Amino acid sequence: MKFIFGNDFSFNNTKKVSGNLQVYYLDVGQGDAEYIRINDFDILIDAGPKSESDHLLKQLEDKNIDDFEMVIATHPHEDHIGGMSKVFEKYKVENFYMPKVTHTTKTFQNMLKSVSKQGLKVQTLKEGMQFNLGDGAKFDVYSPIKDSYDDFNNYSPIMKLTYGETKLMFTGDAETLAEKEALSRHLKDLKSDVLKFGHHGSSTSSSNEFLKAVSPKYGIISCGKDNSYGHPHKETMNKISKNQIKAYRTDLQGEITLTSDGKNISIKTEK
Ligand SMILES: [Zn+2]
Repeated sequence: MKFIFGNDFSFNNTKKVSGNLQVYYLDVGQGDAEYIRINDFDILIDAGPKSESDHLLKQLEDKNIDDFEMVIATHPHEDHIGGMSKVFEKYKVENFYMPKVTHTTKTFQNMLKSVSKQGLKVQTLKEGMQFNLGDGAKFDVYSPIKDSYDDFNNYSPIMKLTYGETKLMFTGDAETLAEKEALSRHLKDLKSDVLKFGHHGSSTSSSNEFLKAVSPKYGIISCGKDNSYGHPHKETMNKISKNQIKAYRTDLQGEITLTSDGKNISIKTEK
C-alpha cells in the first residue's frame, strides 16, 4: 500500500468515506503509543517505554496487524521509543518517520539499528508535510518548524488526522513553545474534534491559546497510574473542565478505542 505525500495535491475534506477509522490510544503506563487503522493503512505513533513493551505487543496482537505502513517516533524520549525495537522485531514496517533530531542514549541507537535492519531509511517529519491516506483521509503536520529546540519534547510533531468530517489532533510531548509555533502558521487549521493532550497532560503543554484554536470536544490523556510526575497536572484538568471537554485517561480507563465513520465519533474504554 502506497501513500502519496507532498504539498501539491488538492484534498476535498468533505469527501464521503466508505469505511471506518479506528484509533487505539494504547495503555503503555507512563508513555505514549497510538495505533491508527485507516483504510488499508496501519500506523503507529510512538511505542511507549521498554518496561511496557510486552503489554504493547499484546495489545497490538489482538488487532490482527499484518504490517505497518507507517511508524512515527515523535521524539527521542524513552517513554515514547522504548518499545520500538520490539515492534520492529515483530512487524514489517514500510516507512519510518521522526523529526530531525538525534540522541546519544542506547534506546535511541537501538531504535535506529532496528530501522536500518529492515533496510529502511529514517524519513524526516516536519511542518508543512501532508500525507494522503486515501478515501477522504489525510494527515497534516503543523510542527516542528525550527531545526533545533532546547527541549526534546518540542520536536514532537503536532499532527491532525482528517477522516471525512472528523478531525483528530496528535501532539506527542509538544509543549507550549511548539503549540505557539503551530498557532503562528496554522491558526485556522487546528480545530479538531479530539485532542490527545500534549506531554501526558503536563501543565507545560495545552496553553489556553492552543486549546482555543483546537477547541476539542474530546480529550485523551496518556499517562501511568500514580506516576512520579503528577501527570495529568491539576492545571490541565482545570482547563478540561472549564472548556467542557470530555476527557479519557489511560491511567484510569486503560486502552481507549475511538471509531469514526467520517461524521460521528464514538469512544469506548477498556475499564
Ligand atoms: Zn513523554
